[in-house]
Amino acid sequence: MDEGAITNAADIVIVGGGAAGLATAIFAKRLMPSRAVVVLDGAKKLGAKILVSGGGRCNVTNCVVTPTDYFGGNPNVIKRVLAALPVARTVEFFREIGVELYEEEHGKLFPTTDKARTVLEAMMREASRLGVRILPEHRVTALSHDATGFQINTEAATLSAGSVVLATGGRSLPKTGSDGSGYALAQALGHTLMPLTPALVALVLDGGFHVPLSGISHEVELTVASAGTKPIRADGVLLWTHFGISGPATLDISRHWHRARIEKRDVALFANLLGGKDAATVEAELLVIASSHPRMQLANALAKLIPSRLADSILSVLGVSGATAMAHLSKEVRRKVVKALVRWPLPVRDSRGYTHAEVTAGGVPFVEVDTRTLGSRKCPGLHFTGEILDVDGRIGGFNFQWAWASAWVVATAMARIAKPNKPATP
Ligand SMILES: Cc1cc2nc3c(=O)[nH]c(=O)nc-3n(C[C@H](O)[C@H](O)[C@H](O)COP(=O)(O)OP(=O)(O)OC[C@H]3O[C@@H](n4cnc5c(N)ncnc54)[C@H](O)[C@@H]3O)c2cc1C
Repeated sequence: MDEGAITNAADIVIVGGGAAGLATAIFAKRLMPSRAVVVLDGAKKLGAKILVSGGGRCNVTNCVVTPTDYFGGNPNVIKRVLAALPVARTVEFFREIGVELYEEEHGKLFPTTDKARTVLEAMMREASRLGVRILPEHRVTALSHDATGFQINTEAATLSAGSVVLATGGRSLPKTGSDGSGYALAQALGHTLMPLTPALVALVLDGGFHVPLSGISHEVELTVASAGTKPIRADGVLLWTHFGISGPATLDISRHWHRARIEKRDVALFANLLGGKDAATVEAELLVIASSHPRMQLANALAKLIPSRLADSILSVLGVSGATAMAHLSKEVRRKVVKALVRWPLPVRDSRGYTHAEVTAGGVPFVEVDTRTLGSRKCPGLHFTGEILDVDGRIGGFNFQWAWASAWVVATAMARIAKPNKPATP
């Protein structure tokens, strides 16, 4: 400890002042105004991840949130946590603190200002109004527990608390402060971890097929095929890049590729370049083109279905001349082309890793927490909110909804302990 270090006592110390930590502090202080609530964060300025989220606009939540939008831990627990803070209540909460939301495609909800800063500033204002004590540049380096409570060591101070909430996030985008150090704090108090992998991350491809396609985007359905498990699919836009593939469909499928790899299963990724149409339908479409435009060249026919540069690249890999007239396309070649369109192999070497990932899959397993309170079964008085838990959502505002809902569950659980018979509304 530094010479000038101070010792502070608090009722509740929240480690990590990201989305989940700030929401936990606000909800806890609203429910228990007389309790001293302190948020410790290692970063100089809080909320870096909120600011970069949603392309700087912060996709706060989604109109429809169900357990099937999440992966990792037990779906029943996820369902229970999500039910505790329905989306309508999230929207109302943000309205209360001055953030109006509007709906975009796929049910995504953004602040009407289109600025993530609106969300962060409103949360900081509300926390300050309620009297939450926020201490940036207080990276927690050690956390211990005994009969008297918790001792929390930071580089700047030592604090004691009756309850601690670990809201340290995952490992993704470590420059925001979420460097994964919270996992070690959980482990020091007896927890194990479900193995960690990046999720919602772009994928690096082998070979050079993707390079000339860089910048092209189109609808696809991606399939992760892995030995011993059912194929997993994600649809949406795929963006070809100089390193491989990105875009929402890629980000959504990436965690499944990583999980198969970490579980040492053989895994392959395929793209249906026609967004999920089956081979019979595609073949029928090509036959219709052949009969209505017999002299149309194959490359031009394919360009009606997919971007023309992609069509040219595929025909070149297949060794099929794009100049072939549709009327002269043999059944064998037609089938070869159809197969390529509905099951194009994508040779994934790796993902772009935590530096580029939006979230981290894996984390503190639900079997080690009380599923009603998200309180630790290993260490009394310890709770978890947000991404540190073994859950990750797909793209579309689901990860923030998890942060808000888990924060609500933890805050109400702590309030119930403080005042056992009082029902709570956020
Ligand atoms: C580029 C990008 C865009 C995204 N866009 C969206 C989106 O639009 N919608 C959506 O739903 N999700 C989005 N996400 C995911 C979302 O940001 C996270 O799921 C969410 O922020 C997790 O919240 P959290 O509070 O659990 O963790 P974090 O937001 O990661 O916060 C953790 C905090 O803990 C602090 N911390 C860590 N270790 C310590 C320590 N030892 N001591 C003290 N403090 C510590 C960190 O500094 C950080 O402030 C995006 C993520 C990224 C990277």
